Amino acid sequence: MKNFFNERAIELNQGAIRSLFDRVKYFPEAINLGIGEPDFDTPKEIVEEACQALRNGKTHYTPNAGIIELREEIAKYLSSINVSVDHNKEVIVTTGGMGALSLALLVLLSPGDQVLIQNPQWLNYISQVKFFGGTPVQVPVYEDNNFKIKAEDIEKRITNKTKVLMLNSPNNPTGAVLDYEDLKSIAEVVRKHDIIVLSDEVYSTLLYDGTKHCSIASIEGMKERTIIVNSFSKSFAMTGWRVGFASGPEEIINKMVILQENLVACINSASQYAAVKALGVFENARKMAEVYRKRRDIVVDGLNRIKGISCYKPKGSFYAFPNIKELGKDSQALSDELMDKAGVIAIPGSAFGSQGEGYLRISYANSEENLKKAVERINAYVHDLC
Ligand code: PLP
Repeated sequence: MKNFFNERAIELNQGAIRSLFDRVKYFPEAINLGIGEPDFDTPKEIVEEACQALRNGKTHYTPNAGIIELREEIAKYLSSINVSVDHNKEVIVTTGGMGALSLALLVLLSPGDQVLIQNPQWLNYISQVKFFGGTPVQVPVYEDNNFKIKAEDIEKRITNKTKVLMLNSPNNPTGAVLDYEDLKSIAEVVRKHDIIVLSDEVYSTLLYDGTKHCSIASIEGMKERTIIVNSFSKSFAMTGWRVGFASGPEEIINKMVILQENLVACINSASQYAAVKALGVFENARKMAEVYRKRRDIVVDGLNRIKGISCYKPKGSFYAFPNIKELGKDSQALSDELMDKAGVIAIPGSAFGSQGEGYLRISYANSEENLKKAVERINAYVHDLC
């Protein structure tokens, strides 16, 4: 049979960490710090709300943009971060953050349009952009700037084909958080070159040490050129519900709604009611963030006590990105050895882009007990190496 795939599908490959996860099943005793999802179950009242909605007959299609109650709650959340939106025209409920990213890229990109993405970056950005016809252009970030993307590095890579800048703060995989000053300088560059920002804020409630979330959309002149992407997955431990949202300029959101109608019609009804409840009881997100903060300290302080490893203390998300350069091994080799010989699964930094070489990504969405054990195991393994 001839090959019926189009060129983009032929190029479509599974993520760089897939082979690592395929091997995990052979190491059932290993502590898995590779997974990027909350270990908590969804808070009970959120689950109950969804059950109740189903019992009450909320089993039908919803508006393509999402139920109005949820869009209202989303608008309230956005106003709490100083972004005021019209829930009727500037908000769409999507299939997780991924659904929002896909819809936005699909309505924006023409073949050859360039999209600026930081390196290292979350695995799916590059693959999505390529599949949707765009050309990813990578902007390196550096540990000596706490892994924060710099306006000048962005500007150097702008060409007449640049259309979109993707930002992700708090960041996966580095945990970096962009503050108002960082975003203000980026905003200047973006306005000067007439670029649209896709601001992925799915870790916006996972912030530590008094850090406050700042969205680039809250900076003057930016709301009209920013699409905020957010999700219930990480903040409310709702990965399996597949509910997220985007907000942005009316004409872009409108196109995304029409596309959503054509692709999936709407997000499943019960998840949307659950999400209304999630935003109504925001305290859950704050409590979980406090637990992650403690875990971060266990992991980062523990790693910093290991000779040959140093770890920047991230201000957000639930990832640590320790520097392993002094150990004299590349990140893939160290990750393989930690799995085979130490019983700890950590993702090689190189999986997130060339700038990730020399680092590991360690997720601390795991119990304190496991995290302490994992740090001890890494310590013992590295000690034997030296
Ligand atoms: N953006 C980033 C940076 C992520 O790390 C993830 C998930 O890991 C997502 C978006 C998508 O999350 P979801 O589609 O579950 O909302």
